[in-house]
Amino acid sequence: MSAADMKIITVIGSGLIGRSWAMLFVSGGYNVKIYDNQPGQSARAIAEIKKQLVELEEAHMLRGELSAAQQLALLSSYDDLSQALDGAFFVQECVFEQLEVKQSIFHDMERFVGKDVILSSSTSCLVPSKVFSKVQNRSRCLVSHPVNPPYYVKLVELVPHPETAAAVMDTTHALMTKVGQAPVLLKKEIDGFALNRVQAAIIAESWRLVQDGVISVKDIDLVMSEGLGMRYAFIGPMETMHLNAPKGLEDYMSRYSENITRVLSSFGPVPDFCGEGAKSVINEMCELIPCDQQHLSARQERRDQFLMRLAKLKKD
Ligand code: NAD
Repeated sequence: MSAADMKIITVIGSGLIGRSWAMLFVSGGYNVKIYDNQPGQSARAIAEIKKQLVELEEAHMLRGELSAAQQLALLSSYDDLSQALDGAFFVQECVFEQLEVKQSIFHDMERFVGKDVILSSSTSCLVPSKVFSKVQNRSRCLVSHPVNPPYYVKLVELVPHPETAAAVMDTTHALMTKVGQAPVLLKKEIDGFALNRVQAAIIAESWRLVQDGVISVKDIDLVMSEGLGMRYAFIGPMETMHLNAPKGLEDYMSRYSENITRVLSSFGPVPDFCGEGAKSVINEMCELIPCDQQHLSARQERRDQFLMRLAKLKKD
């Protein structure tokens, strides 16, 4: 496929993530066609995106080289799948996280696209071999898993189907890099991909420590936000270890691996997240931040403001 053929991207599903992908792709100068199976929904999504692009421009946080008006001019909305797919070289699916819905939309899409068109899913939790099981040519399929909100959190996990062609991974990696995201390649599929596996480990141990009466909800959150998280916003756990011993990673492990192994072997089974045992943890959290809409929305806004400022700091 020549560069001239790589101008149009179709986004399928115009909810939170579909709108975010559309904003990212137009920031890189691509024409983006948005499709949603709810009539009028993709047009409403463009109206919402317009509002956000203008606000971002005013806050000097607009991504890419183009103005908000120029980016907006690259967007179009469709209620018809075949028209939405016409001319696209890359399709990013963002429909509900339900296996049957995803399998069926990819099956439908394959009728309308050429054999070289890349089919990419935003799924958070479904492995590619399941999502694409009804697609005939699976060498062009992969998962591109974003992190919310993708405009400020740039990581994208690229996860291949067992049959995905290397060139498809390379093209997607180049596309994500071009629009300013930070793609990482998984060499094979695995439940939870990389991010959610690491996140699950952190959730499990934090939950256990609170449930076992070792630490409060408030303080375990501070362990991350004032401790580990300070480094992790800039360097990962591997580099952190490498820098934390005079002669690097091997030295670090010769000093600390015994401790790490002992602590790891004291981890208990998967905690009770939903039953009787969970209630005290949940109550403690809700005393700190009541779980009504008003309190949660205010904290979500605060989180997004912080993320925006952190994204700016990382850019500088
Ligand atoms: P959402 O509910 O906000 O939006 C889904 C959109 O898809 C809706 O507009 C709906 O009308 C449309 N839709 C449903 N079925 C369709 C179909 N057959 N054809 C066309 N459009 C259809 O969902 P979301 O939060 O944007 O999530 C979308 C995907 O992104 C999911 O797979 C989710 O797991 C993944 N994801 C979400 C997050 C997150 O934090 N929300 C993060 C990473 C990945």
